Amino acid sequence: MAAMTPQEIAREAVKLLTARKLPPTPDNFQTVYHEVAGTRPLRPFPLEQLRQIGKQLPDRTPAQLRFKTQFNKAVSLHSWDDLEKALLTQLRSAPPADPATPSVEVTEEKAFPPELLEQMARIVGHALPAVGNDDARIVEQAEELVHYLRLDSQHPPTLRRMMADFAFRLSFVAEEQAEIRHTLLHLLHDVFEQIESISPDNPWLQQQLAALVQATQPPLSARRLDDVQRRLKALVIKQVEAREQTLEAQRVMKETLAVFLERLAQTVANSDQARTRFESCAERLEQAGSLADMAPVLQEAIQSARAMALDSRQVAEELTALQERATKAETEVQRLQQELDRMSEMASHDLLTGVLNRKGLLEVLEREISRADRMGIDVCLAVLDIDDFKRINDEHGHLVGDAALKHLTDVARSALRPLDSVARYGGEEFVVVLPDTQPEEAVQVITRLQRELTTQLFLQDDQRLLITFSAGVTRLHGDETTDTALARADAAMYAAKRAGKNRVVSA
Ligand code: GH3
Ligand code: MG
Ligand code: MG
Repeated sequence: MAAMTPQEIAREAVKLLTARKLPPTPDNFQTVYHEVAGTRPLRPFPLEQLRQIGKQLPDRTPAQLRFKTQFNKAVSLHSWDDLEKALLTQLRSAPPADPATPSVEVTEEKAFPPELLEQMARIVGHALPAVGNDDARIVEQAEELVHYLRLDSQHPPTLRRMMADFAFRLSFVAEEQAEIRHTLLHLLHDVFEQIESISPDNPWLQQQLAALVQATQPPLSARRLDDVQRRLKALVIKQVEAREQTLEAQRVMKETLAVFLERLAQTVANSDQARTRFESCAERLEQAGSLADMAPVLQEAIQSARAMALDSRQVAEELTALQERATKAETEVQRLQQELDRMSEMASHDLLTGVLNRKGLLEVLEREISRADRMGIDVCLAVLDIDDFKRINDEHGHLVGDAALKHLTDVARSALRPLDSVARYGGEEFVVVLPDTQPEEAVQVITRLQRELTTQLFLQDDQRLLITFSAGVTRLHGDETTDTALARADAAMYAAKRAGKNRVVSA
């Protein structure tokens, strides 16, 4: 049978109403209409009741708020389908109810002390700068979490889930950051090692680079980076100066030699053979890139000139002029050298031992004092003076004495913590700065260093030399100058000398 049209259904329905003697009310008509059509009767949409429920739905978490919005939207559209969808999604994603907790609403109120929540919010907030901004999602998660922790009340399962999600992501990001730091440090280390290996003929550069290679050993700390930065700056300044100095000396030499060769060529213009030789010298000089390349050219030119027994006045004059200019260039090189030495003094590290010099020490002391003030921690310092150092010099020579100084600082640097600083204060006097250390601990640390020196003996031509030192230790007071503290430690060091040397006295 063909499907009936709505008009036919309506007509049949009216007939049915009449046959059953029912009054034609809208409800009766609707019922018979559906009977004729074979469809389900529509139930009226319970708008008011559902609106009431919607109003009472909780909206404290982002998920709750999302559900409430969906629910209310479905209600306002009278859409059973949307309502069903919203309810099912919510039920599937909601955490399982805790059987021991009959009503979640009861336990969620005042579940955590507000101070604890505030502390948690601060921890999350402080963790953020450490993980950087590369991962947008963790920044978003942290902001949501901080916001949630600062609400008036929290739903424990929601808080637990948010914390777990954040911790999970944080663990990955932190691991990645550590990996990046590690790789960067390695890279820096490799770069310094490479530079060190390509410049074997510059001892100063070698020494600085060895110190940089050492400073880029893990673990990385802000102090170490600070050290690297300062050394690198000194290195760059010195390199630029050294380059300028060499270029200038080369320019002067090249110019002088060129004039000299030209004059010689003119003087011997009547001798083809000699002229060819001088011209070839001039050509090679043109190609010469460094002083080292110029030396053999000059040698050959002088030999040729001598072989021809040139004694003309002109050549004699040229030779004198050349000598004068060479002397002048040498004086200039010396002046530049002095300038460089003065700049080295301005640097913060000692050239012989690689530890801080006096200037570097004062910088470190200033930094540590302000840090100690800020954080309310103790800073100690120790003055060390090598015992009977004159005798080492007298018996083995000054160079051995120098090597002994280097040995002492090497042992000190390996025995102390990375955050401690070692400085050469004078000839064979050193200062050790020990941040975050109490005086009794400082005495123990310096005594341990003395023991370390008895096990790591200084080797010199198969001879083992024992180097000992006397030390004075003191705590830096916030309200005194560094000079006062150093003088107190120095006095304690002298007390240690008087008491028989190779010991530590605290003041
Ligand atoms: P004391 O135990 O009393 O300290 O005896 P000492 O021999 O160490 O006496 P003092 O401290 O007076 O002498 C230090 C000597 O150290 C004097 C100096 O020649 C030597 N000295 C200072 N600086 C250097 C240096 O850079 N290299 C070398 N090799 N020796 C140095
Ligand atoms: Mg001394
Ligand atoms: Mg001494």
